[in-house]
Amino acid sequence: MDMTLRSQEEVSLATVFARTLRSVIALTAAQDRRVYPDSGEILRASRDDETAPAALVRLLQFSILPEILGESAGPAIYLAAKRSSRDLGISSIQGLKDWFSRMRLGELEVELDEERVLVKLTRALSVDGLPRTGTPVCDVERGIIDGVLEDITGTEVLTKETLCWSLGDTVCQFEGYAGRQAGYLYNENGFNPAE
Ligand SMILES: [Zn+2]
Repeated sequence: MDMTLRSQEEVSLATVFARTLRSVIALTAAQDRRVYPDSGEILRASRDDETAPAALVRLLQFSILPEILGESAGPAIYLAAKRSSRDLGISSIQGLKDWFSRMRLGELEVELDEERVLVKLTRALSVDGLPRTGTPVCDVERGIIDGVLEDITGTEVLTKETLCWSLGDTVCQFEGYAGRQAGYLYNENGFNPAE
């Protein structure tokens, strides 16, 4: 199957999934609606020296949310992080690196040109030091990176995490390639496209 087509199908399936899940959960929700502070309010009201234990951040992603989302947790977290990244007020690559640093998510290196996007994340807060599970797991980070790069480039960005601490690597890496399709999508033959 064509890789481009599959990636776009994954995006639209994820969107349908997110909408359906919201409806299903709404059916079982308590009557009294919750009103949450928005991203801007949270960022303005939280001091940089207010920190949460890394264990809490990791439990949220790898235990608490998967408790209800099951194997869909990864794609759902990716989509949610990607959408909400638009509210973070990040408008440059330097801004993205600074944001990761400020949130202590890890040290980010971003290469972006007409042909590809290649992002390396060192000492990722989500996984650094955890047991290697054999699969990539950094969907929050991938979602934020792709979302912000979409805003900056004005085109679709759908990377794949090709290296991860959880796979046994020392860094996490997210990559996508420009091609005949619009945007940057992961391509197995990104460095040597088979034309
Ligand atoms: Zn990772």
